[in-house]
Amino acid sequence: MKTNKPVCVTGASGFIAAHITRELLERGYSVRGTVRKSPESYPFLLALPGAKERLELVKADLLTAGAYDLAVEGCDFVMHTASPYKINVKNPQADLVDPAVIGTTTILESCMKSKSVKRVIFTSSIAAITDEPENAKVFTEKDWNTMSSLDRQPYQYSKTLAELEAWDFIMRKRPKFDLVVINPVMVIGPSLSPSLNTTNQIIRDIMSGVYPGIMDLNWSFVDVRDVAKAHILAMENDSASGRYLCSAEEMHMRDLLALLKSSGFNRYSLPKIDLSGAAGSLLMKALSFTQPRDTGMYIRINVGRTMRCNNSKIKRELGLSFMPVKESIIETVKDMVKWGHLPQPSRIG
Ligand code: NAP
Repeated sequence: MKTNKPVCVTGASGFIAAHITRELLERGYSVRGTVRKSPESYPFLLALPGAKERLELVKADLLTAGAYDLAVEGCDFVMHTASPYKINVKNPQADLVDPAVIGTTTILESCMKSKSVKRVIFTSSIAAITDEPENAKVFTEKDWNTMSSLDRQPYQYSKTLAELEAWDFIMRKRPKFDLVVINPVMVIGPSLSPSLNTTNQIIRDIMSGVYPGIMDLNWSFVDVRDVAKAHILAMENDSASGRYLCSAEEMHMRDLLALLKSSGFNRYSLPKIDLSGAAGSLLMKALSFTQPRDTGMYIRINVGRTMRCNNSKIKRELGLSFMPVKESIIETVKDMVKWGHLPQPSRIG
């Protein structure tokens, strides 16, 4: 379904939502993006091709009741992407769960009041599917994270509760709009803004000596531009329904390092000691207790386990094809150098 009305994108300043905004503008749509500061604080959004004519930025906060009433008014489609993506926060309830869950209810209430909204495309996460890879399992849209809590991977908990609230709202209130959910894995890729996204930061850390060695860790990656396309396909495709696991490929830390070395990034402080065997994994789990709470927990849960995701539903039903993760990683690194998150290779001694 296409629309000539503005498409509302919440949290338009964010890594993913900025790309959704760019892609929508590129395809000729008008966008009403919600942000937390005044519009002039976002020159990277205002400079997007088509923004002058077709981008409107309005202020809204997830914790303010009714804050999105005006933002969604007159829109056929709302992409709800705003939600805090942070780890090692001081107060998981206030910093993560409340904005994620109360924010979801707030947006859906506004959509219900609007009478114009036909579909909400909700940015959930792999976090709502699992917080613990299992070696013998390939995760699908049928899986739900039942392990996270305020004390265990609270970001993953916030995303699980928020998506559950979204589906529950639909059951409880039977609104006129439908809900389609995108569940991206680790999103990497070039950033439209100077800030460093939590996932790109993992690659930055790998290249900056933060990791003591090569660990038995593997990640499911997807490029941010493919995640943006997924949201738009979920809007344009009338028959889109349910959840869509949005994952391109898995990559082991060992292969990621081999890629970086063979791509000319070997002057960075890449980990060299191989800690990916059984003894190394035990050592890493012991050392994880010296890390900040959520980082340590992540290491203990993920080391030695392989994450596998089935992306057949999104390819089959939405026709999404994914760019190769190797390309995406190299572009991410070059982009982090461009923004100054990593030094220029020529300036490393
Ligand atoms: P991001 O760059 O940190 O963007 C988060 C957005 O949410 C920002 O626009 C932020 O606004 C907004 N936000 C946070 N708290 C808010 C509040 N109280 N009121 C209003 N807006 C608020 O993160 P991202 O990676 O783009 O993530 C966007 C969405 O994708 C999130 O729902 C995240 O859970 C999901 N996701 C991300 C990944 C990933 O790997 N990056 C993977 C799966 C799912 P400010 O700019 O003002 O802070």
